Amino acid sequence: MKNCPQCGQARIGEEFKCPRCDVFYSQLDELLFEEQQRLERDTLAGAMKRIRAATDRKQATKWELVAIWRKTPLRTKIVLWTVLAFLFVLIVPVI
Ligand SMILES: [Zn+2]
Repeated sequence: MKNCPQCGQARIGEEFKCPRCDVFYSQLDELLFEEQQRLERDTLAGAMKRIRAATDRKQATKWELVAIWRKTPLRTKIVLWTVLAFLFVLIVPVI
């Protein structure tokens, strides 16, 4: 579709939604948009983009790290903890 189904305004570039009424130009655009969102959500590039776009970057970074941690499988977490504990045991006697 070349025009917004709601206000009839011509489509600008590769936008999926009408900037004025926030309505998708077509059902296909909605699907493409969701796919793009899903891909961005799951990649580091998407996380970086969100951090850059955020006003409070420190807070955004924290949230992204929390989200990554939540998505990490339990086995990976156990391995990470073991490695950290091992390093701790190695470093502490030196200090
Ligand atoms: Zn519109």
